[in-house]
This record gives sequence, C-alpha cells and structure tokens, in this order.
Amino acid sequence: MATIEIVGGKKTLSFEFFPPKTPEAEQTLRETVDALAYRKPLFVSVTYGAGGSIIDRTRDVVVDLAASYPFAVMPHLTCVGHSEDEVNMLLDDYADNGIDNMLALAGDPPAGGSDPGGDFRFASELVEQIKAHRHGFKIGVAAFPEVHPRSTDRKVDREHLARKLESADFGISQFFFDPEHYVRMIEELDALGCDTPVLPGIIPVINPTTIRRFADMNEAKVDEDLWTRLERADEHDRLSIAVEHAATMATTLLEAGAPGLHFYALNRADAVSGILDLIGW
Ligand code: FAD
Repeated sequence: MATIEIVGGKKTLSFEFFPPKTPEAEQTLRETVDALAYRKPLFVSVTYGAGGSIIDRTRDVVVDLAASYPFAVMPHLTCVGHSEDEVNMLLDDYADNGIDNMLALAGDPPAGGSDPGGDFRFASELVEQIKAHRHGFKIGVAAFPEVHPRSTDRKVDREHLARKLESADFGISQFFFDPEHYVRMIEELDALGCDTPVLPGIIPVINPTTIRRFADMNEAKVDEDLWTRLERADEHDRLSIAVEHAATMATTLLEAGAPGLHFYALNRADAVSGILDLIGW
C-alpha cells in the first residue's frame, strides 16, 4: 500500500495537479510528472471537478499515474451534491485499483444558493463515510489559513476545522501569500488541542491575473507589492520573481515547523523545480 504517513522529523513533499482536458494537455502533465518525480514526492494529488466528465477524468488520471510511478497518488473527492451510494461506488473503484488515500472535501454548493441535493453538507460527513469503508483509506482534509470564505466567525471555523482534522490523518492548506496566516492557524489549532499535521499549500504566482482570481474566490489576501512587480515584469522575469517569492515562503514555513511542502503545481514543472532548486531540496 502507498499510504500517506506524515510523521514528525522527515519533511514531506507533494504536488497537486488537475485533470488535463486535451491530449496535448495530457502529454504536458506526463512530462511535468516525469520532471518532478525524481524529487521523490511522498504523494501527488489530482483535483476533482464539481460535476460532468471531469469526474471520470480524475479517476482515470489517478489510476493511470498510480500505475506508472512509485509514489502515492491521491484523488480529491467532493461530497456536496453526491449521494452516499455514489460515493461508495467511487470508493470501491478506487480501492479495487489500489488507491489508498483520499482527500475529503465538501466542494462548493451551486452559485445562486439553490439546493445541491445529495446526502452531504460538510466534508466531515464524507470523512466519516470514507472511514467506514472496508479499504481503510488514509484521509486528508482541507484547511483554510485565512478562514473558509463561507465562515462568518473565525473561532467557530477553527472549531469545525479542529474536529474535522482530528477525525482525519492530515490536512492540506489553501494557498496564502504570507506565511504568518499558516503559522497563526497552527497556533489556533494547537490551542484547541488539535495536532494533526497540516501541510502548507504553496502556489507559485506564475500568472498573476489568474491567481488573483483564485485568491479572490478563496478570500486569500494578495501581496500587492508582489503583484505590482509581477505585472510589470516580462515573462522570464515574472517566473523568477514568482519562484523567489515561493522559495522564501517555503523556507520560512519549514523553519516555522511545517511538516512539509505541498505545491499547487498548475501542471507545470518549471516553477516548482526552480523553487526546489533554490531551497536545496
Ligand atoms: P468543510 O470542511 O465542510 O467546510 C466548509 C464550511 O462549513 C466552512 O465554513 C466550515 O467552517 C463550515 N462547517 C464545517 N463543518 C460544519 C458544521 N458541522 N456545522 C456548521 N458549519 C460547518 N474543490 C473542488 O471542487 N475540487 C477539488 O479538487 C478541490 N480541492 C481542494 C484542495 C484543497 C487543498 C483545498 C484547500 C480546497 C479544495 N477545494 C476543491 C475547495 C473546497 O471544496 C471548497 O473550498 C469548499 O467550499 C470547502 O471545502 P471543505 O472541505 O473545507 O469544507
């Protein structure tokens, strides 16, 4: 079994990818994974869309990567809008294909506030269903250093997060642009008695326009000075600025005690490779 164990001492490395939509993008993802494989990640994860064909693509990409590489490949699984039976069918299929880890997420309800239907409201309910599955999956969950955008109360959000983390095996954070957000979240979880490891998620700002849009959706504060420098730079300099910024964050996070580094690789190897070179990984 390629299970994800995050224990004290050895810092871990992991990458997130998304399912490619075209044969060319599939080829690019393959080249990306090949280029990053020798960094010896503990795992890579593959995102899961809100519906439609992307759902099958996640499964196929996960099974394909798992058959080709020695590290664990973890699918993301969202529960809002799904029935328990649908989730169990997916879990059975993943188990039968030797997938041993699952990132359990709520997903987002439909825009406009209509009822998504399904048997789940919160990720913690999905965690319980995965735990009840015969396969004994290791379970990761999401954590939002700057508080989940649907939360109106920081303290209540942290209490829900602490309970969710305690019933899971590890967490992965949303991206952020100031390590202080992650450090504060860990202190708050610590104060609630929760010591489940949470990997900080780092996104290299290779495309400031797109990443500002992602940040706005997640209510992650962008560093305006960084964005100004990125927006003024040409493509080559922009990559260097993004890499240097992410490398500095990575070093600070490791020094602050983060159990490892999780990169939102955006299906490209150049930025993440540059960061890992800079920090000597
Ligand atoms: P929850 O843990 O359910 O939290 C959602 C909100 O509900 C929070 O405000 C929380 O405080 C509140 N809450 C939790 N429990 C309770 C309770 N018992 N009572 C009242 N309130 C409660 N989305 C995708 O669609 N596909 C992906 O592949 C994907 N990958 C992601 C990977 C990472 C690392 C992260 C950080 C996010 C990812 N997302 C993905 C986004 C995620 O699905 C959304 O942000 C979603 O809105 C919240 O998911 P969650 O699992 O944190 O939800």
